[in-house]
Amino acid sequence: MTQHTAATPAIDIIRETQIEQVLQSTRGRDGALVREILAKARELKGLSMEDVAVLAGASDPQLLGELFATARQVKQDIYGMRIVLFAPLYVSNLCGNNCLYCAFRSGSKAIKRRALSQDEIARETRILVDQGHKRVLLVAGESYPNEGFDYILKAIKTVYSVRSGRGEIRRINVNIAPLEVDQFRRLKDSGIGTFQLFQETYHRETYARVHTSGRKRDYDWRVTAMDRAMEAGIDDVGIGVLFGLFDWRFEILALLQHIQHLEAKFGVGPHTISVPRLEPATGADLASHPPHPVSDIDFRKIVAILRLAVPYTGIIMSTRETPNLRRETFALGVSQISAGSRTNPGGYAEDEDIDSSQFCLGDHRPLDEVIRDVAELGYIPSFCTACYRLGRTGQDFMDLAKPGEIKHHCDPNGLSTFLEYLLDYASPATREAGERRIAAVLAEMDDRPRRTADKLIEQVRAGQRDVFV
Ligand code: SAM
Ligand code: SF4
Repeated sequence: MTQHTAATPAIDIIRETQIEQVLQSTRGRDGALVREILAKARELKGLSMEDVAVLAGASDPQLLGELFATARQVKQDIYGMRIVLFAPLYVSNLCGNNCLYCAFRSGSKAIKRRALSQDEIARETRILVDQGHKRVLLVAGESYPNEGFDYILKAIKTVYSVRSGRGEIRRINVNIAPLEVDQFRRLKDSGIGTFQLFQETYHRETYARVHTSGRKRDYDWRVTAMDRAMEAGIDDVGIGVLFGLFDWRFEILALLQHIQHLEAKFGVGPHTISVPRLEPATGADLASHPPHPVSDIDFRKIVAILRLAVPYTGIIMSTRETPNLRRETFALGVSQISAGSRTNPGGYAEDEDIDSSQFCLGDHRPLDEVIRDVAELGYIPSFCTACYRLGRTGQDFMDLAKPGEIKHHCDPNGLSTFLEYLLDYASPATREAGERRIAAVLAEMDDRPRRTADKLIEQVRAGQRDVFV
């Protein structure tokens, strides 16, 4: 959906005074009120800022148990057992910004700088395709080699052009610097899925303190980026906060304001929310000493509260977190995960190089092991890219998702892409665990989606690939 609208001043998107008032007025209000809010959340209509603030303040273990149980139920109602997989593809660590928490920051001499050539990008892509990946998140620092922004457009073309064995990358999401509207139009025309950009912190004073130079210093330019992307017709956008920079309660209320703003202006909110937590990074002291560390229990609360506040928005969990914590958050609301990641440009061909990586990983397992684990936990690992390729994005996706209709598409597509993985790439142990899971899921499915799934599965077993509904 493309709409041409007047630019909204950043100050009207994130209203700090309102956030502080809500936090103040809801302090100490839990007990019965928490239960009322959880009952409301079960209706799958989302939550207000006040509701979110009350849940964020709850600390009684009994109430937290109820919060987690409600999040599990909402996750199950909307997403079933699917978990979508992707891999990040770091193409460049050149950067003109000095974000004090990031290894790529311009002020650091501790890492090796490098922008991959198109041949190297193709080589990285081939490795990911040969592992079984179908989705990548293309990531770059905020300055490009000589050709400027065209470098990114060429990289996207390169990734989509790679064919290897029976596979290819079917959806590229990007996490790159904010753009002008006409650049966003070119990005959309290149065939991207989601444009992802994290505000890092919505708290202006903290933002100014940790972004000391470069274009990223401009809070307003960044917070209005999604408006420009949507004006340019990109209707799948992904937002996020880098947790650890400021009080997480403030940040999730600001996320909600950002979402409400996009919904009011464009009729649809973000497609995904990412919840990165600060991890140690070479040459970036701040990353090892987060000003507002988020404990594991609070991190689980964040995922659960977001699941209830915006039930139809995907939540992404990266390999920054450990396998155990990732497992716990699947149940609480996470719908997409990365696996087998490298955060140094060239890292798939040349292996992990901590001296040019962006941050330290918490989960080092290869894709095959993650898939087996996810399947053994009872989930369906999905490589589905159908919605975006059938134009079911933005409002169309939400219309389909809201009445629970999406299950009729997602479960069959999830199973058929999982089977593709098992037949083409899996180790014997993963294939066995996966086949068991597929049989168990089919046995429990309602008639209509099961018939669809049976048909797709039959096609994949017969040798067809990339079949979806
Ligand atoms: N340069 C672009 C930008 O800053 O938006 C995109 C790429 S940047 C490499 C992607 C994200 O990595 C940032 O938005 C930030 O949230 C995250 N990040 C940076 N340093 C990190 C750290 N030490 N630990 C965890 N995440 C980090
Ligand atoms: Fe550059 Fe992004 Fe890292 Fe900031 S977070 S230093 S903009 S790569």
